[in-house]
Amino acid sequence: STPSSSASSSSASVAEVEDGGEEVVNLDHGDPTMYESYWQIMGEKTTIVIPGWQSISYFSDIRSTCWFLEPEFAKQVVRLHKVVGNAETEGHHIVVGTGSSQLYLAALYALSSKEAAEPMSVVSAAPYYSSYPLMTDYQKSGLHKWAGEARSFNKPGPFVELITSPNNPDGFVRHSIVNQTGGALIHDLAYYWPQYTPITSPADNDLTLFTVSKSTGHAGMRIGWALVKDLEVAKRMTKFIELSTIGVSKDSQLRAAKVLEAVADSCEQAGSSEFSESFFEVSYRLMTERWQHLRDAVNTSGRFGLPEFTPAFCHFHGHNLQPQPAFAWLRCLNGVEDCESFLRGFNILTRGGKHFGASPEYVRSYPVMADHQNSGFHKWNGERRSFNRRGH
Ligand code: PMP
Repeated sequence: STPSSSASSSSASVAEVEDGGEEVVNLDHGDPTMYESYWQIMGEKTTIVIPGWQSISYFSDIRSTCWFLEPEFAKQVVRLHKVVGNAETEGHHIVVGTGSSQLYLAALYALSSKEAAEPMSVVSAAPYYSSYPLMTDYQKSGLHKWAGEARSFNKPGPFVELITSPNNPDGFVRHSIVNQTGGALIHDLAYYWPQYTPITSPADNDLTLFTVSKSTGHAGMRIGWALVKDLEVAKRMTKFIELSTIGVSKDSQLRAAKVLEAVADSCEQAGSSEFSESFFEVSYRLMTERWQHLRDAVNTSGRFGLPEFTPAFCHFHGHNLQPQPAFAWLRCLNGVEDCESFLRGFNILTRGGKHFGASPEYVRSYPVMADHQNSGFHKWNGERRSFNRRGH
């Protein structure tokens, strides 16, 4: 999630001191700082040097549909999807974006019709990612308009259905649900990586979005990519990015390429002297330990409910495993109607269900992904030492 959409989230740290001098635990952010210690240990493996004369041109590859796409970045995207098995890249065009956020806007632009009398409807099944309605409507575009809950959508005319799988905020696997013709699908697979969910088959959709923000944790690089089947849609997405930012930072693409390369190397060379385990084994274990702490705390208190998931066979890890989302979709029990206010009373900041088109009995909180210095989650900081012990 983006830090800016909450009044309380201007600081980068999780435990922060408010104006009145009280310490609050901010679980509203989805900042993936939990991976920082892993990348520190990887050290030089992801270091790149960019001399001042390099990457000067606007252009990366004028023969490519996406002319600002760095070939090395495209190569590593294809390689990583093959190694992980989470997406088919053959027969797809790659469009790079300044985060998958920019690609979401590019996709709306590309899928809407310039000649339509009315804006195209944009829907998603609740609970949906809270940034979608805001991003869809903040420019009051004549091309597209948020139309809310996909389950009750029955307006004739063109529409787009957004499918986030695994879903932000509840972590469940999602499929398209609108049973109507004239629609296009955007699949946001930001979390379809083996540390969060079983990889059951390679995604092969018309338009799929991925991001380094959640896969490797490099949210600050602002790099995402789209896999697009239709050439015309890929061209129009490229046009949108040309019109809005004349391309995407080459420096960031080169850095992203290096990080993706290290992740793919870690998978292919797991068990070697270079990489004792793959990035996804380490991050999967980290998520398991954090979910265990969270479930223990929730069970002990008896005041909250968490989603229960069904295990599935993961082709990457080679065994059955439970989904373990980057966030917790927490429900207040015992008749508490406004879970966000309830937790706020304990100086814990979360995002209430209504932002996701759901009941205020729910909140989304991020106790899993960020590092919680000074917030009482000291056990989690111990991960750093265990990474070292395992020789990464
Ligand atoms: N989609 C989902 C489901 C997300 O949770 C996020 C980040 N919170 C994004 C997209 C945006 O990612 P990016 O940093 O690549 O813009």
